[in-house]
Amino acid sequence: MASSTVEKSPLAQSVQFLRGVGPQRAGALARLEVKTVGDLLRYYPRAWEDRRETPAPGVAPTQGPVVVRGRVVRARQIPAGIRVALFRATLSVPSWGGTVEVVWFKRPSRRYDVLEKLKEEVKPGADLWIVGKAEATLLRVREIHAEEHYAIDDPRCDLHVGRIVPVYSLTEGITARFLRETMAEALKAVGAVPEPLPPAVVRKRTFLTASQALAGIHFPRSQAEHEEARRRLAYEELLLLELAWVLKSRQTREALKSYGYEIRRRFLTPFREHLGFELTAAQKRVINEIFADMQGQHPMTRLLQGDVGSGKTVVAIATLLLAAENGYQGAFMAPTEILAEQHHWTLAKFLSGMDVRTALLTSRVPKREREKVLAEAAVGKIDIVLGTHALLEGDVQFKNLRVVVIDEQHRFGVRQRTTLRRKGPPMDMLVMTATPIPRTLALALYGDLHVSTLDEMPPGRAPVHTSRAGEGEAFEIVRREVKKGRQAYVVYPIIEESSRLDLKAAEAEFSRLRDSEFAGLRVELVHGQLPGKKKAQVMETFASGGYDVLVATPVIEVGVDVPNATVMVVQNADRFGLASLHQLRGRIGRGGHESFCLLVADPKTPEAQRRIASLCETADGFRIAEEDLKLRGPGEVLGTAQHGDLTLRLANLLTDADLLALAREDAEELLEADPPLQQPDHVALRERLLALYQRRWHAIDLA
Ligand code: ADP
Ligand code: MG
Repeated sequence: MASSTVEKSPLAQSVQFLRGVGPQRAGALARLEVKTVGDLLRYYPRAWEDRRETPAPGVAPTQGPVVVRGRVVRARQIPAGIRVALFRATLSVPSWGGTVEVVWFKRPSRRYDVLEKLKEEVKPGADLWIVGKAEATLLRVREIHAEEHYAIDDPRCDLHVGRIVPVYSLTEGITARFLRETMAEALKAVGAVPEPLPPAVVRKRTFLTASQALAGIHFPRSQAEHEEARRRLAYEELLLLELAWVLKSRQTREALKSYGYEIRRRFLTPFREHLGFELTAAQKRVINEIFADMQGQHPMTRLLQGDVGSGKTVVAIATLLLAAENGYQGAFMAPTEILAEQHHWTLAKFLSGMDVRTALLTSRVPKREREKVLAEAAVGKIDIVLGTHALLEGDVQFKNLRVVVIDEQHRFGVRQRTTLRRKGPPMDMLVMTATPIPRTLALALYGDLHVSTLDEMPPGRAPVHTSRAGEGEAFEIVRREVKKGRQAYVVYPIIEESSRLDLKAAEAEFSRLRDSEFAGLRVELVHGQLPGKKKAQVMETFASGGYDVLVATPVIEVGVDVPNATVMVVQNADRFGLASLHQLRGRIGRGGHESFCLLVADPKTPEAQRRIASLCETADGFRIAEEDLKLRGPGEVLGTAQHGDLTLRLANLLTDADLLALAREDAEELLEADPPLQQPDHVALRERLLALYQRRWHAIDLA
């Protein structure tokens, strides 16, 4: 609880309280979300630069900037162009046993005379630190191009040179020099930083204190100190995350469902009989796991992992039908309109002739229709509502929503998952993903949840051959397959579905292909900007064989299911991420016909080459996900929605797995001993927890 002494703590003071920070600088800092002294201290460097004195050339290889200390012997201005001014000095550097030339390239400024200032500061006899780039031959530095210089007798120069210095993200009006000096000022002004961690934890884990850690992260005196500080602060982030998860999952785990399910077979049996195929053993096992959870007295939180094409949709439908059989409603949320629409048809197909009422809710559903759906969902006339983010809106109400299924869940954040789940009493949730993630990451992203895995593909899948190809060769294969009665996708990278430029390029390509390469074939275009109805119509026609070639943007990346399609040509494949490519490839090879994924690409970076090579080498989604994590890191792979959930700045979920485990253990112990976190030693932690996660995640209830 915030007592008045807490409010007056130096951390809560405005940054203007610091020497050298006026309203203007405070305004600029606010753009970096730094408003209080506490915010400032938590504005961690994005990198560190080793600016300890550089040994004489030839002694050790130099990396990064050259840093020398010496006395100016001679200084002069050199005639140069209008755009640059040149200033040159000869510096005697005792530790190098000689002199070195230093050059300043300066852009003239209207506000003051740069050269005048340099002349004043760099005059013969002056003792200076120089930071710059070396123009060097193998054994001797000929010249240093100065980037910064400091007078040795400047009392603050030891913040900027002769040490490891912090590198911060900057913004207009905030220079590196100002930020370093202000940071030092803040550390000094605050003195002993109030300890957010319980002292018992600090002792048990032998961490640095908060003061030591903050000093060490901004101004480390050695690599070792830097790493120790980073670990302690990373742990802090992870502890807060795990506390949030333990609390949240405890809420779900301890909640009691006020209803039960019985397997009545009213819908499930006809569904199984009309499927047209046998469920795989993996599907049966997973459905059993889900039903057992649903029949338990606590709400289910289960993650279903299964590679692209492993048949997750059928499992989702079975889950929704168990609710429907018992007279309850279910919601099925997908990240894109195309996918939501596709699920809608799939349900219509599998449930035809059964008395299950379904409806679609996306932002493109016309107003009239939408109002009808809303009214019917609210009174329970609809059993299963499918949709996109549109389902989350406040006016979407249910009579008795009891189960929520979220497809391709990595596109949604915690807050979104929670929003849907809170449209009724404690209820069951199934989240599905084709991007398998390591156990530690799953823990960090979901707290505790149960994982089911579809580790078996439906039978009769033909292999997908993946290779790089020239455009001509790829189109030849398209024509050959179409002749056999098959269908093909040609996908263009669109980074922004809303970008006019990208769209125009795709449209132009479509015209070109229709009129030349695929003249005589039935070709159509689909992209995210098409009106929902048109898009649905194109997809439906393609699915029923009405087009031979579908030119598409990555809107078809997830979920689209057309078993007769056997070719996927990906144009500029080097512009796609690995997971996207794997998802795209998953659109083909679904109907038992040999299939071809052709990557038209000119990968320039080693990373792009590696992506393309990995895709050609393996079809195993788990290996691809692993590789993707290595190449891009969890932030990128999991998408911004989830990354934004975590508020991790120093912790890395891949490399700090050990810290994550400790944090988990400590979070459970703390909440066991003091569930509301109200003991004096825990209050600071409680406040930071609420500040960080309360709003972001939608309510963390501390008893
Ligand atoms: P994903 O796991 O990628 O969502 P889908 O649910 O879209 O996969 O399933 C891919 C295809 O496999 C669909 O055409 C679906 O009808 C089909 N399918 C699912 N289960 C089976 C099965 N047991 N036997 C044969 N085909 C199946
Ligand atoms: Mg799917």
